[in-house]
Formats: sequence, C-alpha cells, structure tokens
Amino acid sequence: MNRQRMDIAIVGGGMVGLAQAALLAVRHPQLQIALLEAASEQPPVPADHYDPRVVALTQSSHELLEEVGAWESFGGERACPYTEMRVWDAEGTGSVRFNSRDVRLPNLGHIAENSVVVAALRRRLEALPNVELVDGFRLESWWRDCGLWHLQPRSDRVNVIEGLEENGEILRTRLLIGADGARSRVRDLLRIRARETVYNQTALVCVARCEKSHQHTAWQRFLKTGPLAFLPLAGLGDENHCAVVWSADRELARELVMLDDNAFALNLEKAFESRLGNVEEVGERFSFPLRARHAESYYGPGAVLIGDAAHSIHPLAGQGVNLGLQDVSVLSEEIARALKRGLEPADPSVLARYQRRRRGDNAATLKAMSTFKSLFGAGDLHWRWLRNTGLSMVDASPLLKKRIILRAMAV
Ligand SMILES: Cc1cc2nc3c(=O)[nH]c(=O)nc-3n(C[C@H](O)[C@H](O)[C@H](O)COP(=O)(O)OP(=O)(O)OC[C@H]3O[C@@H](n4cnc5c(N)ncnc54)[C@H](O)[C@@H]3O)c2cc1C
Repeated sequence: MNRQRMDIAIVGGGMVGLAQAALLAVRHPQLQIALLEAASEQPPVPADHYDPRVVALTQSSHELLEEVGAWESFGGERACPYTEMRVWDAEGTGSVRFNSRDVRLPNLGHIAENSVVVAALRRRLEALPNVELVDGFRLESWWRDCGLWHLQPRSDRVNVIEGLEENGEILRTRLLIGADGARSRVRDLLRIRARETVYNQTALVCVARCEKSHQHTAWQRFLKTGPLAFLPLAGLGDENHCAVVWSADRELARELVMLDDNAFALNLEKAFESRLGNVEEVGERFSFPLRARHAESYYGPGAVLIGDAAHSIHPLAGQGVNLGLQDVSVLSEEIARALKRGLEPADPSVLARYQRRRRGDNAATLKAMSTFKSLFGAGDLHWRWLRNTGLSMVDASPLLKKRIILRAMAV
C-alpha cells in the first residue's frame, strides 16, 4: 500500500472512526483507507474486571458490527443483552417498563464496554489488507492542494511514526473523515462552529457490584439532580455487576467524587432505592462534564464529520455511539452511490446528501434529550405531575410502548 497517498483518511480511532474504516474497507476492497489515531497505544482490555465506560448498542449498531466482522469476537461473551428497561421518577409514582416481549424480540439491545468494542474493531482492521492503522498520529495541521488533503501530525510525533516521511509532510488523501470526538480538531480546522449547550452537570461512571442479579435489565431513576442509570454487564462469570452512569449537578458530583468508596457506595444505593439490594463494591470513579454540541455544518471541501465530532448528546438515553454508527452507515451508502455513478467520494454533492440525511435526525435527538433533561430536572409541582402522568400513561399503553421501543431500536 502506498502509505503516503490514500483515497480516504479517517482521523480518530474511537468506536465511530474504527467502524467507518471497517465498513468502507469491507464494502470497497479497492479503496485505500488510513485510520489515524492520536494515542500511541491502547489500554488493554481488562481480563479480571469491567471497564466502567460502556455503550448501549441498539440492534442497528449490532448489525453493523456484525457486518464488519467485529461482533463475533466479543458479542457472545462480553456484551450483555438486556431484555427489559425500567424508568421511574424519584419524585412521584410514575414509572414505565419496556420489555423485549412487547416487540417480540429476544432483547432490547446490548451493553458493551467501550474498550472491548474498540479492541474488536482494531483486530478486524488489522486483518483487512486495504486499511492502514496509524497510531500516534495526532492531526495538527493540513493544507489542500489539487483536490488532495496533506495531513500533518503534531511535530514532536513526526519522527517516531514508522514509515512516514521525516520532513513532516505526511499523508495525502482525497477524502478526509473527521471522527476525532467532541473536541474535534478537524471541525476546528474546517472552521465549522458548533452550537453548545452546557448542562452544568457532570457524569460519574463506575462499576458497581450489587447484592442481587441485574436481571438483564437497564435501570434508570430520574432524580431532581439528574438521571442515575445501572446498566447490566456480562462476561466475567456473574450477573451482579452493573455499569453506573450518574449524571448529577456539578456541585453534587464534586461531593460524590470526594467520598471514599464505602460512603459513595452507600449514597449510590440510597439514590437507587436499593433496587438491587446493597451496593457491595464500587470500582474506580471517572467523571465527565456534560455538554451537548452540534456542528453547524457536517462538511467542508473534501472533508466530512461523523460521530461526536458532528454531535455529542447527554448520555441519559445512551444514544451517543448509536447516532455515530448511523452516520457511518449513511456516509458509507452515499460513498457507494457516488462510486457507482463515477463520482469522487469527496464530491460536494455526496457530502451534502450525507448531511441532509443525518443532520435533521441528529438535531431531533439532541432536542429530545434537552427537553427530557429539562422536564425531569424541574421540581415544580405541575411539571412533576405532568411527567409522572406521562410515564404512567406510556406504561399503560402497549401500542405507545411498542412504538417507542421500535423507534429507539432503529437508531
Ligand atoms: C459518561 C458518558 C456515558 C456515555 N454513555 C453512552 C451510552 O450508554 N451509549 C452510547 O451510545 N453512548 C454513550 N456515551 C457517548 C459515547 O461515549 C460517545 O458518543 C462516543 O464515544 C463517540 O465516539 P467517537 O468515536 O465519535 O468519539 P470518541 O470516542 O471521542 O473518539 C475520538 C477518537 O479520536 C482521537 N483523536 C482526537 N483528536 C485527534 C487528532 N487531532 N488526531 C487523531 N486522533 C484524534 C481520540 O484519541 C479518540 O480515540 C457516553 C458518554 C459519556 C461522556
């Protein structure tokens, strides 16, 4: 492979960028694809404990990972199918239960650890002859000349990337895909602005071992200070471990981070109404400030944004990666369509079609998450009544439930 000149270069080796590289490579063996990742090495998948950063993968995401050949290496073991989802309001009696039986499916989705999915995708890419996986390449600057992007990594890395030219003039590509996460360098270099909503909340994530089995259920309790989720984990021999995502107002989150493990476990158990008995053990805690961002445009000349580089949302519905994988699917379809018609994948009409198909959908989800967040954060009596009545009405209507489940699973 001519490593200096590619058809497509993807910047960012998170789940979305890796999936994009794999899908394009599998569907178009004639394309030369580079995946550029800033980190020089990936942390190994822990064999004796769970990674606290997880994703809830929908059926569409599952199918995509299956198509690229990544699912089979972890799906049966380290992805936990969940058959039920229970949501309830801390300030009232409203609650709703969604069950996979409502839609006659074996499950509603799978919870998988980020590092497990990333490792499976990387293994797959390493086996594909038309993909070059370049670690330690943090895109810093670029220029465009005769329809080609010239990509340059951060200067202190240039000489240590094996096989790349030493003068710093690095990699040329016809199409550049920015999958470099919420603080995207590609988006900045394209001078695309992103609208930002700061939630004044922090998400704490950790793994908790509970007294009772998680029952293959995704649990979410809406507290006034933010949603608290317990997501079932599988793969290490029991059904008592859950990934906890606790979104809390900043002040509360700061206090929770400072607590020792025992005190934190007690607070967690109380906030979760001991639904799974005692919280017996908690793992290391990580915190992420929460904000939503939406790029004003998804493309520039010869370059396009996918995943969190284009949109990042509140994790309350666990849809971030799923939306990113939808981008992957749609962009792949548009590239296939362009190739069939003899068009360049970087043709502006191709990128505009991708944007038309994805931006509205993502905007609607972002809006829904913000509305949801405001509705559940409101302490006012009328709002409390409204949301409790709403939850109970949904719970009492099998048709409405079915529609909600099918809509959520299609993402
Ligand atoms: C607390 C929390 C809980 C969440 N829970 C869920 C959930 O349950 N379900 C769900 O679907 N989503 C969830 N999400 C969201 C989900 O994690 C993100 O949507 C997802 O990780 C985005 O994937 P990505 O590949 O687009 O970006 P990222 O995962 O951010 O990957 C970006 C990659 O680009 C690399 N990079 C960055 N800059 C450069 C550069 N200049 N050059 C080269 N490489 C670069 C980075 O090293 C990184 O590997 C959650 C998020 C948070 C914060």
